[in-house]
Amino acid sequence: MESCESVLAELSAEIVVQDQDIIQSYTTDFRNKYHGASPALLRPRSTAEVARIVELCGNHNIGIVPVGGNTSYCGGATPSPQGNQLLVSLQRMNSIREVDANDLSMTVDAGCLLSDIQEAAEAEKLFFPLSLGSQKSCQIGGNVSTNAGGVSAVRYGITRDLVLGLEAVLPNGQILNNLAPLRKDNRGYALHHLLIGAEGTLGIVTAASLRLHRAPTSQVTAFLAVRETSDLMPLLAMAQGATGEAVTSFEYISHASLQMLLNKSPGLRHPTEEQSKHYVLIEAATSSTVHSLDPAIEAFLEAGMEQGMILDGTIAASEKQRMDLWNLREHIPEGEVLNGGSIKHDVSVRVSQVAQFIELGSALVAQYGQGARLSIYGHVGDGNIHFNVLAPEGAETNAFFEMLEAEVSPRLYDLIAKMDGSFSAEYGLGQDKLMLNEIYGDPVKANLMATLKAATDPKNIMNPGKVVAPRQHQTQEVRICA
Ligand SMILES: Cc1cc2nc3c(=O)[nH]c(=O)nc-3n(C[C@H](O)[C@H](O)[C@H](O)COP(=O)(O)OP(=O)(O)OC[C@H]3O[C@@H](n4cnc5c(N)ncnc54)[C@H](O)[C@@H]3O)c2cc1C
Repeated sequence: MESCESVLAELSAEIVVQDQDIIQSYTTDFRNKYHGASPALLRPRSTAEVARIVELCGNHNIGIVPVGGNTSYCGGATPSPQGNQLLVSLQRMNSIREVDANDLSMTVDAGCLLSDIQEAAEAEKLFFPLSLGSQKSCQIGGNVSTNAGGVSAVRYGITRDLVLGLEAVLPNGQILNNLAPLRKDNRGYALHHLLIGAEGTLGIVTAASLRLHRAPTSQVTAFLAVRETSDLMPLLAMAQGATGEAVTSFEYISHASLQMLLNKSPGLRHPTEEQSKHYVLIEAATSSTVHSLDPAIEAFLEAGMEQGMILDGTIAASEKQRMDLWNLREHIPEGEVLNGGSIKHDVSVRVSQVAQFIELGSALVAQYGQGARLSIYGHVGDGNIHFNVLAPEGAETNAFFEMLEAEVSPRLYDLIAKMDGSFSAEYGLGQDKLMLNEIYGDPVKANLMATLKAATDPKNIMNPGKVVAPRQHQTQEVRICA
């Protein structure tokens, strides 16, 4: 704490917040799972001020926790409980530096809200496709640092695919300027890609140049009742074929997830007349001024129904109806909260194995879950499944969750490992998944990550205790479950 004071004493009072009422909202994570402490929140106004903070923290060996919108699902932005780390928020660095319609690029400060970036692109009749349920509170610096995925990755890719360059303050206080929005640049290592997904452990991202797309001229959104999970990927392939790869979202929602939400939300209504165990929210968009999507979607729906894969469907006839359909999808996590919360598994497998994972995973929960309820949904067009497990109605959740974490989660993660999938599809490691990485991660990769971390941040001041486990300096034998 004394050393924190030494850093604070050398900083302009205008960027230091020590009011614990304000700091408190940053010391607990979004899921209320991690609780930390910090003597101060630093709010720099420029890259030079960020560099000064990092330099001072390096001099005094003080840990820094960069915080964006604090929507991380894995405790990535929560400081340690010891109260010996400083929080750094870029909320005052929130300018759109440039929108270039000719380059189809945009350069922004890292503290910009994702929704502000989307709107700034729209104002120029352009489109920034990254889209998450948290977009009104998360910052682009956080999106870059978590390599966020979201609902449009099936067409536009994840954050990594949308970043052309970065500016960042490295752990030694130097500023890496790699902001030029070049489409091709093979001058050695693409260092900005190291910072993407590093969760603040290799530096503080201060600005990003982003890849824009032309704004859609038309889009079609439909909510489909689907026969089986094994129909999901054939349907995606059919839709891609019919529309010429114009599918932008392909979101799976199980009947159980939808029903949990609807039962507790009287204002929402079921979107299809016929019910099924499985639903898909599909959206396609084109920026063509010549081609219409309507005949393509009609052909796709007709073929899907003829083959018995689509049982029923609703096509949004207005922007309001489109928003209503998306509203259902976005509120699915809330449905879980209203039903006592869940143990979340944010996993991915290759897209061709989504149905197999859902089937095998559900069988494991049926066998070992002691009556647990399942809520399965996700970005299945990218092979990303949110496979969440809830306590039975009326059960004492804390004890039940402990049982699930002991008996069910390891079996699900074993299954994912066997299928060569990922135990963290889009939320990262933070502090929540360090142990999983010990068990299921590749030790060679873990060692290389630890080597990179030690080389770039030898004093371990950047977000200590996240992503790279403290012990990861030696190759260790890890358990791969049978
Ligand atoms: C309702 C809801 C829906 C969500 N949906 C999705 C989804 O569909 N897909 C998805 O991928 N995620 C999703 N998330 C998770 C979360 O929103 C994303 O991970 C998001 O990118 C985090 O951004 P943030 O600004 O809130 O970052 P924070 O939570 O503040 O920080 C996340 C990590 O990035 C680091 N960091 C933050 N800013 C910087 C910076 N400028 N420089 C360096 N490091 C930094 C932090 O230290 C931390 O490790 C969702 C979360 C919620 C609450």
